[in-house]
Amino acid sequence: MRLSPIRIGSVMGVPVYVTPSWLIVSAFITVSYAGDVQRQVASVSAAGSYLIALLYALALAASVLLHEMGHTVVSRALGLPVRRIVLFLLGGISEIIGEPVRPRDDFAIAAAGPAVSFLLAVACWAVSFAVPAQSGAAFLIQLLLWSNLIIAIFNVLPGLPLDGGRIVQAVFWQVGSSRIRGVRAAAWSGRGLAILLAVGTVLATSTAPRGLYSPTADIIATSAGFAISAFIFVGAGQTLAQAELLAAAQSVTLEPLIRSAVYVPVGTPVAEAVRRAQQQSARAIVILDGQQRCHAIVDEAALNTVSQHRRPWLSSDDIARELLPGHILSDSLAGQDLFDAVAAHPSSEYLIIGADGLSRGVLATIDLRQKVTR
Ligand SMILES: [Zn+2]
Repeated sequence: MRLSPIRIGSVMGVPVYVTPSWLIVSAFITVSYAGDVQRQVASVSAAGSYLIALLYALALAASVLLHEMGHTVVSRALGLPVRRIVLFLLGGISEIIGEPVRPRDDFAIAAAGPAVSFLLAVACWAVSFAVPAQSGAAFLIQLLLWSNLIIAIFNVLPGLPLDGGRIVQAVFWQVGSSRIRGVRAAAWSGRGLAILLAVGTVLATSTAPRGLYSPTADIIATSAGFAISAFIFVGAGQTLAQAELLAAAQSVTLEPLIRSAVYVPVGTPVAEAVRRAQQQSARAIVILDGQQRCHAIVDEAALNTVSQHRRPWLSSDDIARELLPGHILSDSLAGQDLFDAVAAHPSSEYLIIGADGLSRGVLATIDLRQKVTR
């Protein structure tokens, strides 16, 4: 079961969501830090220690949110809107709509998040001089200083899906003049980073002096190390797969995908329509209305379910999909525009027309999908 994120509000018009995993981590932080608060803060009550620990959990979420806002503000300033911000188990994500067209935009969007986290750490450091030592506020500020510093450093590690990976990607893009090459380099760097992190976790666990940390703390640190490695390794692969798909989509043209069609009048039996299609080596059947206009396209999947002995008695219209305005595409469509047009009006078949307005044939969505996934 996958629980969907919960919307908690919006900042600057961008909806903010938290996943249930984030709620669990926040509860865990509150419970596990309460003991530390009691040890380090003079004269704090038990309830007070939980309150301070809870404040830390909330301030940590606010820190992650501000990091994501950094990405969002720069992204929007560069003309790329943000669908939503999601806070989850290991941090946050800003879902940017579209891709930067220049390497330096990619770089700026990626660098903005860690820059905010670093500035927050500096701000905590400045404030720490103003609060009394051993107070709850001092404890909170210290924790936030280190948390933001760790967020900044962790995120600039040079591998996708981390911000540092996008920085590597932007640099390779600039140097190699191809975005996809940049993504490939940064994804492999991400996988390498994940392996190093896993090896580091094993080494740290096996070489740490026994009894230095409690067994529970040991298990938590080791699991966290492996979880982060897995997150980076899987994330790098996913980011790469997405980029490859996008690159493949961008290079698709309609011409080689057009199936030639046979045109039959309304009421033509399926058997007759198929016979004509075979005779003309056509791979699609278009139905014409009384005015000889293209009216519907026979659904290939539906046709395949009609048995041979029923075909002479069934009208082609009964297994055809009526052509709505969104199901007629220009033969000049290519790349992203083609995918956008198909996504806007999903169908299994589309009629393709030339600049003269005449039908050139049919695009089967299945052909388009195969073209990209191959
Ligand atoms: Zn970030």
